[in-house]
Amino acid sequence: MKYTVAALFLSTLSATALAGAGTNWEYSGKHGTENWGELSPKFTTCSTGVNQSPIDISGAIESQLPPLGIDYSASRANVLNNGHTIQVNIDGNNTFSNDSGQFKLLQFHFHAPSENTINGQSFPMEAHFVHADSEGRLAVIGVMFKQGNINQDLEKIWRKMPNEAGATASLESVLKSSVLMPSTKDYFRFNGSLTTPPCSEGVRWFVLKDPIEASPSQIKQFRKMMHGNTNRPVQPINARVILQ
Ligand SMILES: [Zn+2]
Repeated sequence: MKYTVAALFLSTLSATALAGAGTNWEYSGKHGTENWGELSPKFTTCSTGVNQSPIDISGAIESQLPPLGIDYSASRANVLNNGHTIQVNIDGNNTFSNDSGQFKLLQFHFHAPSENTINGQSFPMEAHFVHADSEGRLAVIGVMFKQGNINQDLEKIWRKMPNEAGATASLESVLKSSVLMPSTKDYFRFNGSLTTPPCSEGVRWFVLKDPIEASPSQIKQFRKMMHGNTNRPVQPINARVILQ
């Protein structure tokens, strides 16, 4: 395969930024999910953590959860193939706020099949909307996809999906990220972690109950680009409580 100098540079930069110290990780094989904790001293939480993500969401306790308070607006965005996922980086001030604080949207990305499962049910794809508050605390909103009609908003992103790891492309028009969320935003809430190395904990998770649709070929296109599964297996709940 022939790379341009620019593509090589971007590829190296991206892998280093994501995996810390340039440590390579994958979803299967020698560098796969079962071995993440041993690949680098920076990744030990992947094997020693007790509040790891994803999880099977079941046994949720009924409580009075406040609305998510999503306040997104049409924003400039670009699409990155980082070798592990397709990530849409978002400019502008897109926030959600509730009793957990106020969090600003940084990016969203995809996994196939879904990482979290709901009452044992896996979905063909899951999007993670990654937010941070002013002190760098992370909050992720998870959105499940079920197989159905073509998703025209997703299609605008998929059309720009770069083939090469490390490559980015700008979206032609501004994007209101909430177009990739269901209209009813009832959710499950629990504590967890990043689902990729370094598996850092203290991440606030909000997984929406209603799925949205993507066509079989859209799901297939993502899986093909990523060369297979991009999900970490579900992790033990341990002492955690899931609220709904
Ligand atoms: Zn994710």
